[in-house]
Amino acid sequence: MQESALPSPCYLMDQAKLKANLTILEAIRKKTGCKILFAQKAFSSFPFYTVISRYLDGAASCSAYEAELAHLYFHGENHVCQTAYLPEEIDTLLPICDHITFNSPQQFRQYSAKAAAHGCSVGLRINPEYLSQQLDEFDPCAPFSRLGTTAANFPEDCLPLIRGLHVHALYEQNSDALERLVHEVVEKFGKWLPNMRWLNLGGGHHITREGYQIDKLEAITEQLQQEYNLTVYYEPGEAIVWEAGYFITTVVDLIDNGMPIAILDASAVCHAPDITELRYRPPLIGADKPNVLPYRYRLGGRSCLPEDIFGDYSFDHPLQIGERLVFRDMAINTLTKAKMYTGVPMPAVAVREADGNCKILRSFTFSDYKNHF
Ligand SMILES: *Cc1c(COP(=O)(O)O)cnc(C)c1O
Repeated sequence: MQESALPSPCYLMDQAKLKANLTILEAIRKKTGCKILFAQKAFSSFPFYTVISRYLDGAASCSAYEAELAHLYFHGENHVCQTAYLPEEIDTLLPICDHITFNSPQQFRQYSAKAAAHGCSVGLRINPEYLSQQLDEFDPCAPFSRLGTTAANFPEDCLPLIRGLHVHALYEQNSDALERLVHEVVEKFGKWLPNMRWLNLGGGHHITREGYQIDKLEAITEQLQQEYNLTVYYEPGEAIVWEAGYFITTVVDLIDNGMPIAILDASAVCHAPDITELRYRPPLIGADKPNVLPYRYRLGGRSCLPEDIFGDYSFDHPLQIGERLVFRDMAINTLTKAKMYTGVPMPAVAVREADGNCKILRSFTFSDYKNHF
């Protein structure tokens, strides 16, 4: 069907953009010999796993459920790195994962021998205490972070069993941040790198974004692999679906409580919570920042929540009830975080295939709401 025939609200994934992103990542793998995994948390929609897995080496999971999903639908390596494992999860994970990373020396000591006996390559998550972000709250390497083992706590007695080190410290960053991160890792953990078979440099690399300096990432990768004779892994999540998703909404009401407000048939809180939780401001097709075009509106959701606001935008025409508004770059953390809080229905999920044809993959009803508990 045509895009205009899709229901509203609707998440729409774009296969052509997804494949364009994946092609960039595939070229890096081929050029450098590094391995790239799909970190699922930003977009754990299994119907897309087969196509994604064609271009990458495998999947990266941060929980047993993610690892099980990857095992079922993703072809390739299966890596897991969870902050803490429960004993019964270890029994689930060891038969389905080829790489398992532990967050602490304690968990490493508890489970690594069993993991190695299963043929898993065992790793330790390290914390280079390198601050790359503005807000400590979201930085995995901020002071007192629970994520990763600091150099001071490195368990040297475990060295014979540690096959790889894993570090995740970046968020939506370019390769200059990667360069600084690698510098810190080498400075603090470099003496142990010759013992490693792999070094996983985590996610947060915005490789598919315009302006990302891929040459620098490739040079850093080749240098590390040569110097330490190991395989470098990356596990981006956002970069894979960057700009590959749209969110179709419709204006259902117009009011003016001191400023023009359009109520949409969707909810920012329920359908794109990064907007209200992380102040993400998605681009909107045909609209601009609030003060650029003549008609300014606040776009609100139709839940009962006061904070349910998509944001302020400006348009070149007055909005009409029934008009469709389509947000861009809405694949990341939307479907994965969507909820039916306050009983707002879930949007449908659709895909635009490479030939332009759109297809509905899933729609939801009252019984999904009732049964989600
Ligand atoms: C979130 C996360 C990723 C993916 O990060 P993106 O920002 O989506 O690229 C990779 N590895 C770990 C350990 C993560 O927590």
